[in-house]
Amino acid sequence: MTCSISCFSARATLGAAAAFAVLALSQAVPGQRLPTTVIPTHYALKLTPDLKAATFSGEEAIDVNISQPTNTITLNAIEIAFQSVTIFPNGPQQTGAVTLDADKQQATFTFPSTVPAGNATIKIRYTGILNNELRGFYLSKTARRNYAVTQFEATDARRAFPCFDEPAFKASYDISLVIDAGDTAISNTSIAADTPGPGANKHTLVFGTTPKMSTYLVAFLVGDFQCTGGRQDNVDIRVCATPDKAAFTPYALGVAKFVLHYYDDYFGIHYPLKKLDLIAIPDFEAGAMENFGAITYRETDLLLDPRTATVAEKREVALVVAHEMAHQWFGDLVTMQWWDNIWLNEGFATWMENKPVAAMHPEWNIPEVVAGDEQVTLNVDAKPTTRAIRARAETPDEIDEMFDDIAYGKASDVLLTVENYLGEETFREGVHAYLSAHEYGNATAEDFWNAQTATSRKPVDRIMESLIAQRGEPILTFAAPAGGRVSVAQKRFFLSPSITPDPAQKWTLPVCFKTADARDCELVTPETSSVILPATSLFFANAAGKGYYRSVYAPAQYQDLVTHAESALTPSERISFTGDVWAQVQADKATVGDYLNLVAALKSDSNAEVFSNSAGFLGTITDKVASTKEERDELGVWIRRNFAAEYAKLGPPAPGDSPNTLELRAQLLALLVDHGNDADLTVQARQIADRYLDDPTAVDPTLGQAALDAAAKSGDAALFDRLQKVYETSTDPELQENALRLLVQFHDPTLLERGLEYSVSNKVRNQDTAIQLAIGLRVPENRDATWNFIKTHWDQVQADLTTDLGAELVSHSGSFCTGEKRDDVKNFFAAHPVPASDVALKHALENIDSCVELRRLQESNLKIWLAAQAGS
Ligand SMILES: [Zn+2]
Repeated sequence: MTCSISCFSARATLGAAAAFAVLALSQAVPGQRLPTTVIPTHYALKLTPDLKAATFSGEEAIDVNISQPTNTITLNAIEIAFQSVTIFPNGPQQTGAVTLDADKQQATFTFPSTVPAGNATIKIRYTGILNNELRGFYLSKTARRNYAVTQFEATDARRAFPCFDEPAFKASYDISLVIDAGDTAISNTSIAADTPGPGANKHTLVFGTTPKMSTYLVAFLVGDFQCTGGRQDNVDIRVCATPDKAAFTPYALGVAKFVLHYYDDYFGIHYPLKKLDLIAIPDFEAGAMENFGAITYRETDLLLDPRTATVAEKREVALVVAHEMAHQWFGDLVTMQWWDNIWLNEGFATWMENKPVAAMHPEWNIPEVVAGDEQVTLNVDAKPTTRAIRARAETPDEIDEMFDDIAYGKASDVLLTVENYLGEETFREGVHAYLSAHEYGNATAEDFWNAQTATSRKPVDRIMESLIAQRGEPILTFAAPAGGRVSVAQKRFFLSPSITPDPAQKWTLPVCFKTADARDCELVTPETSSVILPATSLFFANAAGKGYYRSVYAPAQYQDLVTHAESALTPSERISFTGDVWAQVQADKATVGDYLNLVAALKSDSNAEVFSNSAGFLGTITDKVASTKEERDELGVWIRRNFAAEYAKLGPPAPGDSPNTLELRAQLLALLVDHGNDADLTVQARQIADRYLDDPTAVDPTLGQAALDAAAKSGDAALFDRLQKVYETSTDPELQENALRLLVQFHDPTLLERGLEYSVSNKVRNQDTAIQLAIGLRVPENRDATWNFIKTHWDQVQADLTTDLGAELVSHSGSFCTGEKRDDVKNFFAAHPVPASDVALKHALENIDSCVELRRLQESNLKIWLAAQAGS
């Protein structure tokens, strides 16, 4: 899956979960898991949805293998009404009685006499509901009509058909759908037969038999989707959408064709199916879902008009397409044995998505985007409540909470660390060996690192176990180099200086050095006290910025790096270096002034991603460290003094501008207006925004969107009305979504109130409501009013919350920075609990605590530094 806002927001993580407990659990059968004495091998599934009544009926035949004679068979089912259950074993057929356990989401069939061991077929007739919760078999609506679509990961296939709903129970599927005459349907495989009836105005679509796959990857979608098709490596690829959005499908088709060929080549295993569909769904909770052969997407993660999309939007769609396609091998062809190893799916796809997109668009700064994402993850992982990558998850809620920044971001960073150490080709061989050994089957973390260890003959097992099974991240402290060596000490890093790490916790990890004339990787183990370093004074301990650790240097080496950052370090290394310094500020080992001086030293950095990272932390300083208007104004003066000339230097957009230049210009404008309070540029931004709204093709869209973002904050009712109209009348999903998001960013209290009211109205889809409110909480000036709105309109808000987006909203309540608000948030959600959000709430409160601590430690430093700037 891909997350809906961003996996790199402070989403859920689990608490203490020691590796040994996980290993022990995988052998036991805890209460929620199904016994392994009945194994499904094949499902024949015929579904008849009624899109107007929002119901469906199902006829199902499950072929199973029974290893011990039994009277009962238990599988998963929830919100299913059973009509009949009959078993056809190696003996007389029997009718079963059904008992339901709603808590465990299980159904048990009890038969009058013992069912013998051996093969049997269970035939089930049942009915279900097309729900409004964006999971299971659910209803998605446009103004014109209804669609019936599916989203099963992690544990919602059981809402559409009774099944053995665990990833290790792989089976093949024969799916048929009885649908209205004018409609079509899409499933994992192609349509094998299309026959009229049964009954008037119906037809029956029969899909080809699937390969063995997990239940959570099954998909069927019913409606009037229109597709743009192409062919690559003998695979039919289509990108599909509702008819009004079909014009926005060609861009993703081009990406998908490139990516398919890239992956065929990289994995050395041809894409496993004959066809691949990518379908945009009007109502979709996540960003996208990798159903085998039928990938589903939120519209804005698949559809765009290349003439009006920003660089970031094009990049994002390409990355999400590449992410889900990587899952066709990593996740769909080879699947984790259980959800405790979901990182094998998500970490891998997050790491892999970058490769084809960087190959297709080297001009898009992909390595730098990756380096920036790693900084976010390192900061999440430096909090005390972080979890280990591999952690316990048993109940559906616990499994849902596994889809977090640790499973996506940290696991991806760990793979990058190992690949950087082994070399790309050696690592690729290990990936190929792992996939070939487990095709159409399941695998564990050990299977992956043992394959890498065998192909590389390096201790990948020790490195990965150390990073996968332990919580948190290491910080490496380097002394001044002497005699061709540098001494190094490691310990766990916490952002909060008030936490003392356990001195026993150590890592085995490769550390790649960059010096003036060489690059070399060393293995740092718990016993290592120093490593060889080619004689030089200038060295950087995270070459390419790909290692998963923080580094800190002796004063002379640090100063050398600051002085030579632009010439000696690559953009990714500069992102890594400035991220390390910012972490030291939070840990009270450096001052906010040190960080600001570093930003000033890099003010002419020509890489948009380096700038974007620095600008992001400038925003944090303005929002979280400064507490008065006076401090923010003084920071604004400093920002204008340093960056106004840089913006002017770029001039207006020109035809030959690279994507990097387009992004840099847009980011400078945003910083100067938002935090630099630049009055002239605020006027200019509004002019650009108006021109962009008049005709989105008349202005470079990257600048146009940035100007619109900046203008909305100080915008008036006329601008609000225009944006509302774009949202309600445009067919372009990106323009629509951008307009909608801005409606909660107006600082004018009356307009903000209108935006918030609108967010919980029936004009806004449930997939967007929580995101709108979360954005309101992110905007410093709108935070209090948004929170008050949420509290006073809780009945309306709650009615629109889906499971994952509810947790997302809770996590954004951690945007505050006072103890008073912390108590308020805590008390409010104690009285108004949101399902599956315990971990999100814990994180939210922790984020407020760390903000309070950061302000307490650094605000006085900021005052001193600002005073010195004013004097200079
Ligand atoms: Zn994914």
